[in-house]
Amino acid sequence: MTRQRSHFEEELRIIPTGWGIASVIGFAAVEILFHVLIPYWSHHHDLPPQPWWTLLGVVSALVTAATILLIGYIYADSKRRGMNAVLWTLLVILIPKPIGFIAYFLLRKPLLEPCPNCRWPIGQDFAYCPKCGHALAPSCANCGRAIRRDYMCCPFCGKTVGGTAT
Ligand SMILES: [Zn+2]
Ligand SMILES: [Zn+2]
Repeated sequence: MTRQRSHFEEELRIIPTGWGIASVIGFAAVEILFHVLIPYWSHHHDLPPQPWWTLLGVVSALVTAATILLIGYIYADSKRRGMNAVLWTLLVILIPKPIGFIAYFLLRKPLLEPCPNCRWPIGQDFAYCPKCGHALAPSCANCGRAIRRDYMCCPFCGKTVGGTAT
């Protein structure tokens, strides 16, 4: 439970500060809408009873703030996964809310691992680091192409490569 929670907090920390500020502004804007603008426009007529109105205002403001934070999270998260961050951020903003968010969490790529040599983010199927050229996967002694550690034979030239796996 504590572990789960600290992981959740770590994930929250990737949200850029600008999005955090935007969510606070969003919260304040909805509160102003509920307690200043709507009463003003409606001349205090036809509003639900005060406690319900206050509750509705707080819930709407919280939903707005959480939505902005989630969009900020998706922006930062898609970026660190090597996805098109701007495109995904626009998609989750434009697609009707829950659908865009669900689509993102279903379709997002796995997290990139840092290169053991230079810490550059590495895609899962990379054989060499694009930044420093560090070999990330073993290569075939015969044809030099990258192979997986559990291969017994090279899938490119057919030579036996098994037995070297560690
Ligand atoms: Zn590297
Ligand atoms: Zn080979």
